[in-house]
Amino acid sequence: MTQYDYDLFTIGAGSGGVRASRVSASFGARVAVAEERYLGGTCVNVGCIPKKLLVYASHYGEDFADLPGYGWTVGARHFDWAKLIENKNKEILRLNGIYRKVLADAGVTLIEGHAEVVDPHTVAIDGKHITTKYILVAVGSWPSVPKFPGSEFAITSNEAFYLPSLPERVIVAGGGYIGVEFAGIFHGLGVHTTQLYRGELFLRGFDDDIRKTLADEMRKRGVDLRFQTCVSKIEKTGGLLKATLTDGSVLEAEQILFATGRGSKTPDLGLERAGVKLKKNGAVVVDEYSKSTVDSIYAVGDCTDRMMLTPVAIAEGMALANTLFNNKPTMPSYLNVPTAVFSTPNCGTVGLTEAAARARGHIVDIYRTSFKPLRHTLTGRDERTMMKLVVDQASDKVLGCHMVGADAAEITQGLAIALNCGATKAQFDMTIGIHPSAAEEFVTMRTKVAS
Ligand SMILES: Cc1cc2nc3c(=O)[nH]c(=O)nc-3n(C[C@H](O)[C@H](O)[C@H](O)COP(=O)(O)OP(=O)(O)OC[C@H]3O[C@@H](n4cnc5c(N)ncnc54)[C@H](O)[C@@H]3O)c2cc1C
Repeated sequence: MTQYDYDLFTIGAGSGGVRASRVSASFGARVAVAEERYLGGTCVNVGCIPKKLLVYASHYGEDFADLPGYGWTVGARHFDWAKLIENKNKEILRLNGIYRKVLADAGVTLIEGHAEVVDPHTVAIDGKHITTKYILVAVGSWPSVPKFPGSEFAITSNEAFYLPSLPERVIVAGGGYIGVEFAGIFHGLGVHTTQLYRGELFLRGFDDDIRKTLADEMRKRGVDLRFQTCVSKIEKTGGLLKATLTDGSVLEAEQILFATGRGSKTPDLGLERAGVKLKKNGAVVVDEYSKSTVDSIYAVGDCTDRMMLTPVAIAEGMALANTLFNNKPTMPSYLNVPTAVFSTPNCGTVGLTEAAARARGHIVDIYRTSFKPLRHTLTGRDERTMMKLVVDQASDKVLGCHMVGADAAEITQGLAIALNCGATKAQFDMTIGIHPSAAEEFVTMRTKVAS
């Protein structure tokens, strides 16, 4: 006789929850997943996918401006924000449908509604109690806006994806990757864009050469970047917002977007009542196998605040399914996780930054190049591509690869494989480049710029 209604009850049908649920079902587990808002979670609805579509849209502005150098003349141009949002929404609906089908095909029961944990083996959804051998918390994260006078007038990335009209001026507060990406999107679409960051230089945690190069490139394009300041007050008059900054200056804009951080979506979930320990910021405390402090409750993805990235949430979900239902206890690997910032231009990074490598005690050789991309020899655009390798002197292993420039995300993915294989600088050097490409620079850098 089966003791529980399900073997696994997943709360949240986002990147991590869907992967864990459907793979567990493929191993024979009886699985249900609860979703209160949208299938596919943040990534599909208000994250990676719609963001990248808006990035594509924003790049056309530059592409049009670059055409004359290649002999093209185009007529009058008009950008229709409402059309872009309508088309983006249609694509999201299509993806929601794919997620629904994927779960159904895998035999996972989808329950739409808000789920809460009642005890280590019971969840409640719309007042109904369901028992389960394991509970998986995959509730993701949510943008947080600090409280200050007028903070209620600020929007977050969630609303930015559904703005009824394109503002003339926007202020983006926050220097993480989401802020940088939205600054690029708005600027590319012709919006007067100011980006604020309270620290000395945005993209904290990225290699300093990425941070500096991107700041230069964004300024050259006309983004008003202001560091060591942030919004302290917002006043609204009519449709206009007046922002007073901590440095005393005052700016006006139609929209003020706060991208100043995300917190785990764990409040009101009943986790602590069930004995699950949470960190101060609400993240679920988990071990290497994603197990919480309660034996039957696991957590993956953003709500654990390990690495807030879709492929990481998916890898954690996959590892969990193997651990619980495939007799293969699996720890997700966080080694050399590559990541990109879809800024204008893009950044790509994998492995250690120069500062992190030195802090870990490595004696490093630094190789760096900065060049005008071939494409812009005819467009006349003043853009530089930066590429950098951090190499361990003792072993010759490449510890980190960093890039700012077109296609950085595409180029970095392959480099991540090389780093995971433990590639040395000598092996990079013996690899033949693809000519003419920007990527070939990664295998042709010969001059050390620092040790
Ligand atoms: C603007 C933006 C851009 C991003 N861009 C990138 C990118 O380019 N690349 C990248 O790798 N990552 C990106 N991310 C991060 C990525 O979206 C997340 O890391 C990823 O979605 C996390 O997956 P998850 O499964 O943890 O949570 P989510 O995908 O957020 O899924 C959680 C789900 O749980 C549901 N839920 C929550 N509470 C309950 C409840 N009580 N009951 C029922 N359902 C519940 C939610 O509605 C949601 O659908 C971006 C994020 C943002 C915000």
